[in-house]
Amino acid sequence: MPYAPATARLTVDLDALAANYRLLVGQSGRAEVAPVVKADGYGMGAAPVARRLWAEGARTFFTARVAGGEHLREFLGPDRPATIYVLDGCPDAQAARLHAADLIPVLSSVAQAAAWQAYSRGIGVLPAALHVDTGMNRLGVRPEELEAMALSPDRLAGLDVRMVMSHLACGGEPGNPMNRRQRDRFAEAAALFPNARASLANSGGSFLGDDYLFDLTRPGVTLYGGGPEERFDPRVKAVATLEAEILQVRAVPPGETVGYGGGWAATRPTRAATVGIGYADGVLRANSPNGSVWFAGAERPLLGRVSMDLMTVDVTGCDDARPGERVELFGAQLPVDTAAARAGTIAYELLTRIGPRVERRYLGAVE
Ligand SMILES: *Cc1c(COP(=O)(O)O)cnc(C)c1O
Repeated sequence: MPYAPATARLTVDLDALAANYRLLVGQSGRAEVAPVVKADGYGMGAAPVARRLWAEGARTFFTARVAGGEHLREFLGPDRPATIYVLDGCPDAQAARLHAADLIPVLSSVAQAAAWQAYSRGIGVLPAALHVDTGMNRLGVRPEELEAMALSPDRLAGLDVRMVMSHLACGGEPGNPMNRRQRDRFAEAAALFPNARASLANSGGSFLGDDYLFDLTRPGVTLYGGGPEERFDPRVKAVATLEAEILQVRAVPPGETVGYGGGWAATRPTRAATVGIGYADGVLRANSPNGSVWFAGAERPLLGRVSMDLMTVDVTGCDDARPGERVELFGAQLPVDTAAARAGTIAYELLTRIGPRVERRYLGAVE
């Protein structure tokens, strides 16, 4: 039996990705812009994303997991000898895998540093980055631990420390005093390793001013169309457009309800479009009460609950609503930051949750 075509599709605009990369390059002074392509390139497909960014001039990339780094190395191939950092560092027993794929761990604890160092003994000097925590309390050695490493170099014997990095907890909030505190702590910590490159800024940090840029920035979400302050920013181009087809349009008389639980009741004659996308495709069920889509020139509210494969949209007064037409969940018309705010979340979550049933297509050259 032939498969029915997917009713939901994600369009990834690689030219928009390239424009966002150039925006970040323009913003970053002399710092190198090193794209973060974790979580399969924020759901956009790490392979086409990284190849296009390489073609635009990116030479250093970050992944979260070791496996993400291995995949990246494989699809960049021998002709694109990128520097690839793994933010998870050197988890238990992963040293050989890191080494085999020529990945550089971002070491985030004294134990990880010891493990990578122990592995280096049979091999020779290995490259490494050090993550120092400056206030987020998520990953990284404490500043005093970093100082102890710097002061007793045999703790790092066998390692070539290429980079010292930290991560901002509030980079998307320019007015938050935490940024300045983290920046100052980081500047002190990075000075302990004058031969290593220093890196602090994510997307938000890239827009906080020159003294946040250091040698290398690590933007993620703004490459993929999210504003650096977690809200729509007209300088950033939409990269992802998520659409789904209308399967049916029906009249709902006053007093009747829509969807599971009967949680929404019509108070006037309503036209409801049933759309072929649901929480199995990454649309948040929690989105139901405030969610909306873009259709025929306007934002249109959801009716009732999002279900596994379907959701229902209010198209009252809209004659264009017919089976086969597509509604936009976010993208070129409805910014991903706006859709995320309606759903009570952030663009990162909407982008990375898009499920495997959604058909992917790419606009613009991959390389
Ligand atoms: C995810 C991540 C980034 C990228 O952050 P964005 O806010 O998406 O720009 C940078 N650095 C680290 C350590 C990260 O975990």
